[in-house]
Amino acid sequence: MSELNLILLGPPGAGKGTQADRLSEDFSLPHISTGDILRAQVADGTELGRKAKSYMDAGDLVPDDVIIGMIVDRLGEGDARDGFLLDGFPRNEQQADALGTALVGLDRRLTAALLIDVPDEDVVRRLAGRRVCVLNPSHIYHVDFDPPKHADVCDQDGARLIQRDDDREETIRHRLEVYHGQTEPLIAYYDRAGLLRRFDGRRSADEVHGHLRAAVATLRLEDTL
Ligand code: AMP
Repeated sequence: MSELNLILLGPPGAGKGTQADRLSEDFSLPHISTGDILRAQVADGTELGRKAKSYMDAGDLVPDDVIIGMIVDRLGEGDARDGFLLDGFPRNEQQADALGTALVGLDRRLTAALLIDVPDEDVVRRLAGRRVCVLNPSHIYHVDFDPPKHADVCDQDGARLIQRDDDREETIRHRLEVYHGQTEPLIAYYDRAGLLRRFDGRRSADEVHGHLRAAVATLRLEDTL
């Protein structure tokens, strides 16, 4: 069985987390989200979490040495042996180079970089309205597009819904600047390597999922031929 070593690219709020969850189920791949790992470290009050928090709250990138070590360790775990779905990493060329080197060291290679593209104004509308469950941040709502049954209460466990610190409008604008300055060059980087696949993230989550799933199924087939 061929490996599916995938990364998801795209601005904050493009739906990478949602799509990664779905693809992770479709293809039995571990969904590795650097943002989720960091938020868990912050919640647990670990040293890594303490180092990362101020950068995250400001919408800046956490320093590469912290992130790269964390991801290389994670890719070495058993569940990532037959493939993975990286969400939120790499976010600059240095991280992309480090990922490439780590994969060469494991005698593996990237299968594809899946870009979910969404214009800035849509990103702001989506993220500023996002609310997450205080107990389980994967329970996600939107005040307009996907409201909970009762305002500010999670449908799944009745806990309070909150806005992430980095989802405030001025921070979102800053995260977009960081994305355009540091992460967007990775589109050309993976295009040059022949690994880029583009998807229109303005479509509904179901449509985007259908397109992604079909593309990943084709990649898997091509790899076995
Ligand atoms: P996300 O949930 O992917 O938007 O990540 C939330 C925050 O975590 C980002 O704004 C960064 O501060 C930090 N972060 C996540 N992934 C990375 C990464 N690959 N490199 C640096 N910082 C990251």
